[in-house]
Amino acid sequence: MLYRPIVPAPRRYTTEAIVLSRFDYAEADRILTLMTPGGGKLKVIAKGIRRPTSRLGGSLEPFAELRLALAHGRTFEVVTQVEVVHPWLRMRDDLVSFGTAEYLAELADGVLEERHASETVYLLLKRAYEILDAGMAPARVARWFEMRLADELGVRPEVDRCVECGRLLEADERYRWVPPLGGVLCERCPGPPHDRVGLSLEGLKVLKAYQRLDVEALAALRIRPEVEREVERAMREFLAYSLDRSPRSLAFLDEVRHSAATIVPPAAAAAAGSPPVPSP
Ligand SMILES: [Zn+2]
Repeated sequence: MLYRPIVPAPRRYTTEAIVLSRFDYAEADRILTLMTPGGGKLKVIAKGIRRPTSRLGGSLEPFAELRLALAHGRTFEVVTQVEVVHPWLRMRDDLVSFGTAEYLAELADGVLEERHASETVYLLLKRAYEILDAGMAPARVARWFEMRLADELGVRPEVDRCVECGRLLEADERYRWVPPLGGVLCERCPGPPHDRVGLSLEGLKVLKAYQRLDVEALAALRIRPEVEREVERAMREFLAYSLDRSPRSLAFLDEVRHSAATIVPPAAAAAAGSPPVPSP
């Protein structure tokens, strides 16, 4: 390996990256927040990208896996080359799945610190985009990602033992789902009144399934729509407390889902029967 101790050359390197967010800067530049496998989250600048003649052009899109050449800059790394590795085009065709991609990116962005290596979270987001692109129901992908991310951050929701006394819940025991405490509370421990369960037994079983099953098994599960919504609310509340996050992209996602529920395109209706899921 070449080692030059006296005059370090300007550091240039290539990395895989997923663009999490971006905003326009100065006359024709754009600043992007990236997630990379080895360097964690970082901000980079794409100079002149908004000019029609820019070589970087339209390939620096969010929610795609890119291979970037970066050079050290004074404040930010500078993007010098872009190559699209995985465009995940099908994921972008559908507003609900696109809104979900945005939500997952915002979650990842919110929990990562800049320049802290986070290969696991990178691979998690990449896998989520792969299965969204392959047509897995966006809500299932979102719940799967939320659960895995919570695990990775060490804040997995407790669904088996009482969060107060640590006792394993019995099958016929009354319990309460208490997001501020991080999970279920047994019938003996004080807390919210027993008529405020917060999560049906079916919902609790689905949460357990998200902790235990792999993507293929989750895609094949039969879950009633009311229970899917209940589990979604449970996870939203849980993440709001455990990660202190209420992602802004959720408003957009809720809106497009509402419209999608009123007008179901024939293709989506047909695909809803058996979502195709790739092998890992
Ligand atoms: Zn207890």
